[in-house]
Amino acid sequence: MKTIGLLGGMSWESTIPYYRHINEAVKAALGGLHSAKLLLYSVDFQEIDALQQAGKWDEAGHLLASAAKRLETAGAQCIVLCANTMHLVAPAIEAAISIPFLHIADAAAIAVKQRGLHCVGLLGTRFTMEQDFYLRRLREKHGLEVFVPEADDRAEVHRIIYQELCLGRILGQSRVTYEQIIERLTSRGAQGIILGCTEIPMLIDPARLAVPAFDTALLHAQFAANYALSEPPEPAPSHEIIDLRRS
Ligand code: GLU
Repeated sequence: MKTIGLLGGMSWESTIPYYRHINEAVKAALGGLHSAKLLLYSVDFQEIDALQQAGKWDEAGHLLASAAKRLETAGAQCIVLCANTMHLVAPAIEAAISIPFLHIADAAAIAVKQRGLHCVGLLGTRFTMEQDFYLRRLREKHGLEVFVPEADDRAEVHRIIYQELCLGRILGQSRVTYEQIIERLTSRGAQGIILGCTEIPMLIDPARLAVPAFDTALLHAQFAANYALSEPPEPAPSHEIIDLRRS
């Protein structure tokens, strides 16, 4: 089993479920007392939030790239960034490490396609819903059609994430607001909803929705566990063996 490097703390409320989901997936696969091998580097989210607000993405990228490098040095064999938004700086992280970076949008898109859907709504922070790092990956790499909420709804989804969910505040009124926004997305044709912020599953119960919901924290954690449990590829036959057969 490979060692997973978690880059967490964005927010810590949503890093906790990653730990549980990854261990549950490893236990389901291997049984007994098996559990995941992992390392966690948890940042101070106040610092990340300040950089986001100021649009200092290069600085944020540098911070997370150096944290990822430290995980690799400590023995991590892949990096899992436990948040959707900060995938905006994924290229900086990938450039700093020589181990695989498991992208959260890939985990979500694969699950959407396995469900046989091609058109989804996306909820997340305004960075995730409005910038192209996430939408473009879903559309161009995975061929999905993706809708985001209208401007007022995006502002409300974003406000609830930072002012409530990242602080561990779960309010019934906000659940109703999210459900109404999801209904508006489905009435525009979304066949499912990507919960593209790792805190949203704290608020939304997929069982209450009329369409499938894709919990990115859960799917990303399962993606990581599958990677950690996957066998290394068979080594290619060496030239020596080929030469012996020829002689
Ligand atoms: N955890 C969040 C996400 O999945 C939002 C917090 C952040 O800005 O990183 O996007």
